This record gives sequence, structure tokens and C-alpha cells, in this order.
Amino acid sequence: MTMPELPLHIDSVKGFLSTAEGEALYRHGRDACRVGPLLEVGSYCGRSTIYLALACRDAGAYVFAVDHHRGSEEHQPGEMFHDSELLDPRSGEIDSFYEFRRNLERAHLQAQVIPVVAPSARFAACFTGALGLVFIDGGHSLEAALADYRAWSTHILPGGLLAIHDVFPDPAAGGQAPITICRLALASGLFEMIDEVDSLRVLRRQ
Ligand code: MG
Repeated sequence: MTMPELPLHIDSVKGFLSTAEGEALYRHGRDACRVGPLLEVGSYCGRSTIYLALACRDAGAYVFAVDHHRGSEEHQPGEMFHDSELLDPRSGEIDSFYEFRRNLERAHLQAQVIPVVAPSARFAACFTGALGLVFIDGGHSLEAALADYRAWSTHILPGGLLAIHDVFPDPAAGGQAPITICRLALASGLFEMIDEVDSLRVLRRQ
């Protein structure tokens, strides 16, 4: 399935998702939005959101974009992925929401997206719905990744998808929290691996 042309240059959107990973999210999002709404944890500046929203567009479906927009550990001042352009001069804190919304507007995809500006766990505590796809790309500590997996994977409908970013089989290539939840999902017997693109893994709920 070819992806429609994006109305903006994706490299003008800050983020860590490769083009191949984004296109895979689009492809699987197209299938999954027939099962139920999509939800991503860790929207940052909207790079993955744009691919998922594009997947929703023709079907009139929606993606929940969950992020507190205060940056993960690695985005804080002094850390490896800190970007001083995202500092809010008023509060001195990271604020990626302005940039997130600006990018969705530039992509003309804001109508497909329901932003949830809250910690993932807080939204999970009051969310009772069923989902067609969950994309986990939030906090990369083991605690955060486990919490996201436990909170959100249970909402995936049969035939729906669990996508996980930053899965690195080689510990030298990256942190091991995402691959840990990927292995947990496979070990549960409820999910099977259906796609691997760069560090993205896509599993289907039986
Ligand atoms: Mg990531």
C-alpha cells in the first residue's frame, strides 16, 4: 500500500522515528483503525502522530495522542536528547505541546487527533474504552515502559495491534526496556509478532 504524500517535510518535525518506521505505522494504522481507535503514548512533537493520523483520515477514525509534553528523562536540560528550542521561557520547563500542535496544523491532520495532555498513567486510570492499536513510545525507563504496557495492552481488541518503538536486541544499541515489554507481550501468548521495521515491532492481539 503506498502512502499518500505528506503535506509537510517529515524531517521538519522533530523526533526519533525513521521514515520506514513511520510508513509502517501508517500501513498498520490503516488496518487497525477498522478495529478501533488508535492510541499512542509519547507524542513529543507529533512525528508518529502524523503517520497514525494520516492512517485514520480516509476512514474518519481517530488517534488519542497521549503525552504530558514535559519531555522524558532524556529530554531534560543536560541530558542527551535535550532540545533547548522546546524550553518554555516562562516556566523554564520543556513544553513540546506548542510544537506538537503546530506540526499537526501544518500537516492538516488535527481533525484526526485527540491530544491528551496528561501522564499516560493518569489517563489510563480513567480510560475504559477498547482500542484498535496501541503504540508505546513514552518513558524508556523499565518502570515507565512496564507501566505503559500493563496499562494499555489490555485495551487492545482481538485483531488489534500493539506497536513498540526502540526495540533493540543488542543492548549496545539502546536501552532494554522496550524489548522487555515486547518479550512480555509475546510470552503472554496473547500477541504474535507480525512486523519488524528498524526498531519498531508490531504485534497482533489474537
Ligand atoms: Mg522512540
